[in-house]
Amino acid sequence: MNRSLSTHSQSLSRCPVFINGEWETIRGNGISPVFNPSRGEVIAEAPLCGVDVVNAAVEAAAAAFPAWRDTPAVERARLFFRYRQLVEENFDRICQCVSREHGKTLAEARGSVYRGIENIEYACSIPTLLMGDTLENLARGVDCETMHQPLGVCVGITPFNFPAMVPLWMYPLALACGNTFVLKPSEKVPLTVVILIELLEKAGLPKGVLNLVHGGRECVDALLTHSKVKAISFVGSSAVAKYIFETGTRHGKRVQANGGAKNYIVVMPDADVQQTVEALATAAFGCAGERCMAGSTALTVGKAADRLLPSLVEAAHAIRVGPTDVEAQPDMGPVITAQHRDRVMNLVASGEEEGAKVIADGRRVRVADAPKGFYMGATIVDGVQDQMTLAREEVFGPVLNVMRMEGLDEAIAAANRSSYGNGAAIFTNSGRAAREFKQRVKAGMVGINVGVPATLAMFPFTGWDESFFGDLHIQGKEGVQFYTRQKVVTARWFGEGVGDVWQK
Ligand code: NAD
Repeated sequence: MNRSLSTHSQSLSRCPVFINGEWETIRGNGISPVFNPSRGEVIAEAPLCGVDVVNAAVEAAAAAFPAWRDTPAVERARLFFRYRQLVEENFDRICQCVSREHGKTLAEARGSVYRGIENIEYACSIPTLLMGDTLENLARGVDCETMHQPLGVCVGITPFNFPAMVPLWMYPLALACGNTFVLKPSEKVPLTVVILIELLEKAGLPKGVLNLVHGGRECVDALLTHSKVKAISFVGSSAVAKYIFETGTRHGKRVQANGGAKNYIVVMPDADVQQTVEALATAAFGCAGERCMAGSTALTVGKAADRLLPSLVEAAHAIRVGPTDVEAQPDMGPVITAQHRDRVMNLVASGEEEGAKVIADGRRVRVADAPKGFYMGATIVDGVQDQMTLAREEVFGPVLNVMRMEGLDEAIAAANRSSYGNGAAIFTNSGRAAREFKQRVKAGMVGINVGVPATLAMFPFTGWDESFFGDLHIQGKEGVQFYTRQKVVTARWFGEGVGDVWQK
């Protein structure tokens, strides 16, 4: 392995790997800078691990599997009860790290870490979740039962936009089911998971049960093709999700791969204006629009646009943008990198060139006390049409497109033309319109007067189409099914033999 001599404690700026219970700072095959996007400054670096490091991590996980699989489910659950407590005790430190490496406001970081904690809580109920079914007397004297057994080494590959929450979607449940795990977080935000894993260690994690590597394509390919890896959970953009699904399944792995999104919010003319404006602003501009469930397009029906837009523009102008690593928190932080900010601004410009109108322009935002930060203010683009690049591509920034529709049918048809299928929402006071919408819209997570219908730990995260590749979704009972395989045992005991002594 290409290891340097420095240890975890000596070199804090190089993010360590965690293999077989040992933290180690390694050189890797290059490094990737980690920014504080609020300042535009490099705060750490992630090593780009190659095949040798990945092999060591997978071998450690494979060696730890037999003992961990045989650890009673109640004991595995107790580890997560202790872990939950430790995460709660270190909550502020975790949220500050999320905010520093990603740029979320502290309030947004807190919300996302709570979503993660709920996944730990769900993992605590694993003894109940793993219970099988039995049928006595399937035939005379024959009983049948189902068992849910772990798969072996599972892998998690995660995106930049939720440094704590998305990893927590994966490894608590995978481990609770009795699997061992290799986690590869986004090389843009590798710091928070170090804290999360240190806490799991403190809670009593046995060596090798969870391992951490860093890197990009080379590292991911080594994980996707390793013969001892049984299952892969992925969250990221659709192009990469598709690649992960195709490569992983071709190599015989079980794969669940969440992709990108473009989420539509239909606003009917009878919607409550104030509630809808608040919900739309949160859905579009929360986390600077860097959410796979961001409400990025408002489909306003009839007179809804005239009722809504003046207040919505006012709300966008009122959003204060600034650094998130200070006590006086802004309403919105930066986006992840300068390149990403430029891409988002270029998409807005392309919409303008193709005939749309920018009615709230966040491109001119300047943040005096953090001039090198990656900022863009809340932006609203009206008159967006289907064929525009801005309408088709995932923007993943603080931009709300407005598309004007004549009726609900047209709005549903517009939403359904999307190649994605993550979330969709409707704002209305009409039960009939809501019912029509929920039945016909082509999306896996639907909100009725709820702008961001992202599911919590006990429900699956049910993206459709280009937003998800696989069969069993992340979280909830589907998550348990993904991380286990079923065995059906049919048993018959014959009446003759030593077993019958007790009858005599
Ligand atoms: P990304 O696809 O660029 O990266 C995700 C992960 O894949 C990272 O760990 C990265 O290192 C790795 N990766 C990147 N390119 C790769 C390649 N060519 N081959 C192999 N691995 C590669 O995504 P991102 O920019 O980090 O995150 C934003 C995206 O994630 C958005 O599209 C967003 O919608 C999506 N997302 C989806 C969900 C969901 O549940 N559907 C949740 C959060 C984010």
